[in-house]
Amino acid sequence: MHDDTNLTVGRATRVLNERVSPAAYSSTVPLSVSAHALTGEPITPEEGLTLEFTPFEVDSAWGPAWGTTWFKLTGSVPAEWAGRRVEARVDLGFDTNMTGFQCEALVYRADGSPVKSINPRNQWIPIADAAEGDEPVELYLEAASNPVLLDYHPFLPTQEGDIETSSPEPLYRARRMELAVFEPEVFELSLDLEVLLGLQAELPASEPRRMHILQALDNALDRLDLQHIVETASEARAQLRDVLDSPADASSHRIAAIGHAHIDSAWLWPLRETIRKVARTASSMTELIDRDPDFLYGMSSAQQYEWIKQHRPEVYARVKDAVEHGRFLPLGGMWVESDTVMPTGESLARQFAYGQRFFEREFGVRSKGVWLPDSFGYSPALPQLMRRAGFEWFFTQKISWNQRNVFPHHSFLWEGIDGSRVFTHFPPMDTYSSELSGAEVAKSSRQFRENRVASRSIAPVGWGDGGGGTTREMTGKARRLANLEGSARVAWQHPDDFFDEARAELTDPAVWVGELYLELHRGTLTSQHATKAGNRRAEQALIEAELWAATAAVREGFAYPYDEIDRLWKLLLLHQFHDILPGTSIAWVHREAAAALAGVVSDAQAIAADARRTLVGEGNRELVFSPSSVAGPVPLGAAPAAASAPAVSLTERDGGFVLANEQVSIVVSREGLITSAIDAATGRDAIPQGMAANLLQLHQDFPNMWDAWDIDRFYRNRVDDLRGVESLSATVTDGVAHVTVERTFSQSSVRQTISLAPGAKTVVLRSEIDWHETEKLLKLAFPLDVHAANTEAETQFGFHARPTHVNTSWEAAKFETSMHRFVLVREPDFGVALVNDSVYGYDTTRDSTDAGVTTTVRLSLLRAPRFPDPETDHGTHVITTGLVVGADPQSATAAGIEMNAPATAVMGAREVQPVVSVTGDGIVISSVKLADDHSGDVIVRAYESLGRRASGRLDVGFRNGGVREVSLIEDDVDGARTGVDLSLTPFEVRTLRITR
Ligand SMILES: [Zn+2]
Repeated sequence: MHDDTNLTVGRATRVLNERVSPAAYSSTVPLSVSAHALTGEPITPEEGLTLEFTPFEVDSAWGPAWGTTWFKLTGSVPAEWAGRRVEARVDLGFDTNMTGFQCEALVYRADGSPVKSINPRNQWIPIADAAEGDEPVELYLEAASNPVLLDYHPFLPTQEGDIETSSPEPLYRARRMELAVFEPEVFELSLDLEVLLGLQAELPASEPRRMHILQALDNALDRLDLQHIVETASEARAQLRDVLDSPADASSHRIAAIGHAHIDSAWLWPLRETIRKVARTASSMTELIDRDPDFLYGMSSAQQYEWIKQHRPEVYARVKDAVEHGRFLPLGGMWVESDTVMPTGESLARQFAYGQRFFEREFGVRSKGVWLPDSFGYSPALPQLMRRAGFEWFFTQKISWNQRNVFPHHSFLWEGIDGSRVFTHFPPMDTYSSELSGAEVAKSSRQFRENRVASRSIAPVGWGDGGGGTTREMTGKARRLANLEGSARVAWQHPDDFFDEARAELTDPAVWVGELYLELHRGTLTSQHATKAGNRRAEQALIEAELWAATAAVREGFAYPYDEIDRLWKLLLLHQFHDILPGTSIAWVHREAAAALAGVVSDAQAIAADARRTLVGEGNRELVFSPSSVAGPVPLGAAPAAASAPAVSLTERDGGFVLANEQVSIVVSREGLITSAIDAATGRDAIPQGMAANLLQLHQDFPNMWDAWDIDRFYRNRVDDLRGVESLSATVTDGVAHVTVERTFSQSSVRQTISLAPGAKTVVLRSEIDWHETEKLLKLAFPLDVHAANTEAETQFGFHARPTHVNTSWEAAKFETSMHRFVLVREPDFGVALVNDSVYGYDTTRDSTDAGVTTTVRLSLLRAPRFPDPETDHGTHVITTGLVVGADPQSATAAGIEMNAPATAVMGAREVQPVVSVTGDGIVISSVKLADDHSGDVIVRAYESLGRRASGRLDVGFRNGGVREVSLIEDDVDGARTGVDLSLTPFEVRTLRITR
């Protein structure tokens, strides 16, 4: 027999696209259209429905960037359509490749109730399943003319990413607004053809199953009269019945499908647009839930539910109803899908606490797993935090984006820095926005790494990023793929049920230890410095607000401002979303983020100041509040300042300066570089002979794509060392020695102050940078005379080690890595740490000379990508870093905390005894607050910071009813330990409730 495979595939493809799909609608009549265009911020539906509408010609232009046009559509169903299924079809000027990245609309009835949304892949609006004929139609469209920022030539700089700079020209031309008769049988035929075409393409060339499908396709097309498709669709479908009814193989892979739209809480659109995106998608999903009894939809992020509740209560009512019926599934248990690399441990604890509390309050449910398909790498502290917050599973897929190494597992146990393990699944389909195409379904079963011992994976199904969600085409495909020979089996399933089954069948899962490093998007540790600095300040300001408010509540009956603290935390948590904190959103988002985070800082500081005033009363003694458990005369309390150490000596040498106290002696060269840093205790110089630290290095930084996200390895090949000095001067002020160096370079300048305080081991480097570069990366380099096997970088509640060598491709890929407040390199008896107040990225190199191995650590200060914000980071930044000479994990931890949590001096009458204090080397208190349940109980979180076993105790400084362990989110836990003993395992986090 001749091989007619290509002939049949070509025939079926053309007939499907050019004849069958268009024939899903038969008769049409135009709707009358009028419109009202708004250029500014959105209005409520009540306001929208009462606007003045003026006539609008279909085929005319509408919608400048970020505007809203309200369309009013009126008409009448023709009498002859009685009994037929009638829909409205609206094409606002859609590009079907840009769902979520383009214009879209929410459709309302005349009474203001939402119908569903329309977008490029979902252009229909239900009118009547069986029309009566002559019924009037009146619909309102709240259409958002969001500009396309990522198109066929991606990553080009654009001014459209901010309403303040975008063009006023209309962006879209409406093509179609009409009533139409929908032909269900033709629609079903189109899905039959699509599924069979997709399946046969994945089968081996001459396999019988493929041949049977091809023959059935030919037979079906032979029965189809292309001039009378409606009339002959059933006959054609009958020819496909056998191949569609043939059941799946016994060993076929099982796909747990979950309807989904990964809606970025901000990205190429501002927060205010996400509020509407979420409402649009949710309205379509509740409509689809009503239409398809098997379909399940999952949505994460309590914040997104709260937005719908506040801004589109009519949509929320339907969501709530669908949640109650188990069809709309709250997922993930977090406030937003946050970045997990940069937020502090306290922030991640609050992501879980605020997320779970919202789900519990609104729906009476908790999430059993953490759902983070899209953030950029995962901290090795997460397994413990997830487990201690009560989660049983973790889901992501982003590691499939790795540039070099293929992750070896899809279902496995992930082990964190403390040894906690969490069952984790990555979908082998490698996407969070599946269309259930034949290729995607086949990829799931082909790529699944656990095929020897397991049989199931997850597929999130629906348009993501900018929203859209699942379509009726996707649910139609799922029905056909439920039990189909040659395909994986697809069934809608709650992820909790998937994880139960996956764990049960995988009796001996592989274990992955340590961070889930994403070998991509390394620039997200540096882009948009103001957002990152604002995050760091806001995190600390909130911790201090809670600490002093709780202390004042216990000591003085201060009214703990629960609601205000909740409001501020939620604002901070929102801005930790995985395109905001990483610096990958449009200019508009980052402009608003800087303002919002500054607001969090000032409002939190106002709470702290109020509480401190209450604590010390009126008086004229200077009292110093120490907000950390590792510093100050009375940690977590207030006392008069300790007598200060002798002033630092400052001498001139060779055109530079020597700064010395009893701890360290620092040489600053005439170039303003640190050429020597001697630790008095050991006599060791931290700087290798002949080398210079505190060297600013400017690199060209133009990645191949994803500008704000990526640093590509070749950036290192071109570098300018910034050694030129405009001025160099030195002073001693209040015993502190300062050397000030000013440099200009390229389009920018920097004024740097190198300071050494009495008694300090840390040399503080404050850099005020006026930055106006294009596609550049600024590094601050520290060659260190330390033969270090690893760098040890702080993460949430501890630190983690990364080798300094690049023996394997896995290590080579980590050429830019993350830190929190410190990174340490050390030999067994001598180490050097770098601390910072707003830096998250660093790189390490290892050099070998005749004098031995040295280690260079370079902090990433600023970048200048041009997409999506064409002027990323232009302006002034103050970045403070510090060189800690003679450091170990304990002093590095303390130095990092001190730089970020400085003491505050207040005039008052009385000292303040801390409400809690801790004994035990390496045990750090991260939070003191009142309980979220408003009981007045005090919550204290402590962790072991050094990676070793610690014994200690918590001393409670007030009358109390006992101490017991609770979960990370303050739930009671089974078998809770009680009492004040604080024996901790390495990096263990313990949350304690002290009853009042
Ligand atoms: Zn995302």
